[in-house]
Amino acid sequence: MGKRETAPSALKERGLKPVITLDGLMQKSRFVQLGPEFYSEVSPTPIPNPFWVSCNASALALINATPDMAFGSEGLALFSGHGGHQEIKPIAMLYSGHQFGVYVPQLGDGRAILIGESMGSEGMMEIQLKGIGRTPFSRGADGRAVLRSSIREYLCSEAMHALGIPTTRALCITGSHEPVLREQIETAAILTRIAPTHVRFGSFEVFYYRNQHHLSLNLANFIITHYYPELEAHPDKIALWLEKVGIRTAELIAQWQSVGFTHGVLNTDNMSIIGLTLDYGPFGFLDAYQHDFVCNHTDAHGRYAFSQQPRIGLWNLHALVQALSPHLSQDQAVQILEAYAPAYDVKWLKIMRKKLGFAKERDDDEIIISDLIDLMDKNKIDYTRFMRALSGFVENPLTKNEPLRNQFLDRLSFDAWGKRYAERLSWEKSNPVERSLHMNQVNPKYILRNYLAEQAIQQAKHGNFDEIDRLLTILQRPFEEQPEHETYSALPPDWAADLDLSCSS
Ligand code: AMP
Ligand code: MG
Repeated sequence: MGKRETAPSALKERGLKPVITLDGLMQKSRFVQLGPEFYSEVSPTPIPNPFWVSCNASALALINATPDMAFGSEGLALFSGHGGHQEIKPIAMLYSGHQFGVYVPQLGDGRAILIGESMGSEGMMEIQLKGIGRTPFSRGADGRAVLRSSIREYLCSEAMHALGIPTTRALCITGSHEPVLREQIETAAILTRIAPTHVRFGSFEVFYYRNQHHLSLNLANFIITHYYPELEAHPDKIALWLEKVGIRTAELIAQWQSVGFTHGVLNTDNMSIIGLTLDYGPFGFLDAYQHDFVCNHTDAHGRYAFSQQPRIGLWNLHALVQALSPHLSQDQAVQILEAYAPAYDVKWLKIMRKKLGFAKERDDDEIIISDLIDLMDKNKIDYTRFMRALSGFVENPLTKNEPLRNQFLDRLSFDAWGKRYAERLSWEKSNPVERSLHMNQVNPKYILRNYLAEQAIQQAKHGNFDEIDRLLTILQRPFEEQPEHETYSALPPDWAADLDLSCSS
């Protein structure tokens, strides 16, 4: 839905309490109980004369709100920084992290604040405003987020959710004409995001490097109590918890690889402690398959290239285990790290078998899958479109599978692979109708290609937000045929090749 209503900019001056209807809903976040060593209380700097950019009705249940509550004038005030509970002091969380492999002693929420928590359909959820102005962790930056990057995070987090990939969610974007300087002058926006917790690997690292191991233990206990309660009573709970974090991280990254998603800035401060996709910046989905795809042009050495992500996940887990090493034995640390790779392999293979339509398992499946991927890489095959079309593969040796084959420059190599695929399918007596049905439930037709986001951004810069809402609706049903939106599943236009993404946001 897209309700755009200019907020009464002088709500406060008129003596109105900005949040009335959301009032009973939101409570102080439990994170605050940890104490002031873990965060700073912050007064938001509202964006002037806010307006709605987009409202995501499908996230309302997460905070148990109705559209009237959240997307009326009180919501507009709250989500643009103009109001909140008097008794709930917003906070910016402290963390540090390894950025491109280098330890940065203090980061923290430089432009985001946690305004409270709400109990919704999936449990207690933190509500965070991103782009809310300077905090003690802003390190000289302006505390703002621009409209462009807010739209990208908004659309991508909802797209990832619809793909079944764990992620922070997005409730709405409010905008303003306030100028914000990046490479060019842009305008300010605030993204409201929702997650069970926004705690990161870096939230633990900060205490390790400050030699405050009692604080990392407090935080570990807090996270276990609220997010891994099944481990709470276990004598080895820290080790078991970290093993689970590693497994969740491995499984998350396996899911990214399966849809061709590159995060772009996999610093340890962007790694969620509960295995969510977190902090969308210069991310990108593969168009043509490319192992060494780098979506972030500031990543000159390709540290965060597509194919590096599984390894980087382990590197980051290593940094987390190091941070908690005062609470672990050597053997435990090794065991946690050793659980990562098998968890990744098992999850990846499980998803890829489904994507190729294999209902049964065969020992050599990994080879036929990897060979297909290598062929796609060599022939620059559009990953999403090919995988979607693969459900139409015909096993009959008399057919050449032209719609698939014709995507390849090297058609003979496709023929050779196709022969093996046909043999593999007939080995398990695959039923083509059922197979196609199942494959279309795991191979998306619609993904957030870069150029699609860019089109929505360009229109939004001219005050037209319809494309954001349209894309949101399409991406929320990625596996469904949407004949009226066929063009959104097309190959990217030529101009898309020139789009350049940096960390600037
Ligand atoms: P990111 O690359 O967006 O994950 O951010 C890395 C760190 O820089 C985090 O501590 C952010 O809060 C901070 N940061 C990024 N952009 C800004 C900004 N415009 N103002 C203040 N802090 C920022
Ligand atoms: Mg970040």
